[in-house]
Parts: sequence; structure tokens; C-alpha cells
Amino acid sequence: MRVIFVGPPGAGKGTQAARLLERLGTPHISTGDMFRAAVKAGTPLGQEAERYMKLGQLVPDAVTIGLVRERIAQPDCAGGFLLDGFPRTTPQAEALEAALQADGVAIDAVAVLDVPDDLIVERITGRRTDPETGRIYHLRFDPPPADVAGRVVQRKDDTEEACRTRLALYHEQTAPLVPFYGDSGRMKRVDGVGTPDEVTARLLATLGL
Ligand code: ADP
Ligand code: ADP
Repeated sequence: MRVIFVGPPGAGKGTQAARLLERLGTPHISTGDMFRAAVKAGTPLGQEAERYMKLGQLVPDAVTIGLVRERIAQPDCAGGFLLDGFPRTTPQAEALEAALQADGVAIDAVAVLDVPDDLIVERITGRRTDPETGRIYHLRFDPPPADVAGRVVQRKDDTEEACRTRLALYHEQTAPLVPFYGDSGRMKRVDGVGTPDEVTARLLATLGL
């Protein structure tokens, strides 16, 4: 199955992707994770991406599209994938459609996680990640256990200021993907408010998993 997760920053895309992977049995492709890995490795791609990421801006389409095209061409993606955080702009969505069409395949479902703006800042500023496992926690909503709490890290772009920039860009550049996919019947809106378990149950039902 080829699935896309769309949603504002902090909507729970990464959290839900980790929970659905076993059922989906496909690779999880998070462009944010790929860029963070490139930044950590100090590659030229990472150096370029970091300039945008730390300000909460989008990495240019040409860079991002190239990265994803390469990734989905890998053999492990032949049976499907879960794209998390891509596409984020209409040109990215168009490029993805063209790449898949050339391979004779298509996106099966676009799950849009709806979370209102007023909940986003708290979700983002309280987000912490375990660098050893990649597991995402929240200081209030999903606190790390005592043996993990000492090592969790906060993303550099999870400041209130960068979060507001990302949220504004979401409304300006990513929200238009809803009408882009809307006509095709593949677009599924899922309420992202509630406990992570509640949201997982909604996603499983919506995707028919
Ligand atoms: P969040 O989990 O808060 O939605 P991500 O981890 O998906 O954020 O992305 C972090 C940053 O990486 C973005 O703010 C942006 O700078 C960059 N990025 C990730 N995906 C894309 C994309 N599809 N297009 C452009 N930039 C991206
Ligand atoms: P995204 O990948 O969309 O940016 P994350 O999955 O990283 O979002 O979640 C952002 C933050 O919100 C994390 O700290 C996560 O623990 C927390 N979170 C995720 N889902 C929920 C939920 N349903 N209710 C409350 N907090 C949540």
C-alpha cells in the first residue's frame, strides 16, 4: 500500500507512522528524519537543509523532490511505503504523481491528520526524542520513562518561533494539497485530537487495515 501522511507540524504523523508500520509492512519515509540524518552526518545536503530547517522554512522543492525520488526507487519500496511529511507543496505532489505514473503505480490513500492550531504549539514545544531508539515522547502527554528521561533531546526547530513559521507555511503551502488530492477519492480526513491510541484506531479504520 502507498500511503501519505499530511498534517501540520506536531499533528502526530511520526507518532502514528511508528504505530502503523507493522500493519502496513512498508518502509516509513520521513523527509524530516532524512534531512536530520544528513545534518548530523554533515553532508552537503545536510548543510543546505540545515539553513532552512533551523528557521522553520521549507527546504527547496528541487532538493526535496530529488531525495524522495531516489528513496522510493529503492527495492524495499516496490511493494509500498508510508510517506510522512512529503509532499508538502503542490510541486512536490505533482512530481510524486509523475514519478509514480511513470512506474505504473499510484498513491492508495492520503491521510490528513487534522489538529487545530491552538493545540500545535504545546505539542511541538513539549516534544522530545530518544536519540537511541528514535521514539517520540511528549513531556506532558506521553512522558518518557525514568530510564529514558535523562537522555531525551529536543529538536532545534521545536521553538515557539520556528513552530509558528512552520504552521503558517503549512496553511499557505501544504493545506492546498487537500483540494489537490480531494477529487481522487483517496483523501481521508482523520481527527488528530484525542489520545494517540484513539487516533491510531481512527487511522486503522479509515485505511481499512
Ligand atoms: P514536523 O514533524 O514538525 O512536521 P518534519 O520533521 O517533518 O517536521 O520536518 C522538519 C523540517 O524539515 C521542516 O520544517 C523543513 O525544514 C524540512 N522538511 C521536511 N520535509 C520537507 C518537505 N517535504 N519539503 C520541504 N522541507 C521539508
Ligand atoms: P509530527 O510528526 O506530525 O510533527 P509527532 O508525532 O512528532 O508529530 O508529535 C508531536 C508531539 O505531540 C510529540 O511530542 C508527540 O509525543 C505528541 N503527540 C502525538 N500524538 C499526540 C496525541 N494524540 N495527543 C497528544 N500529544 C500527541
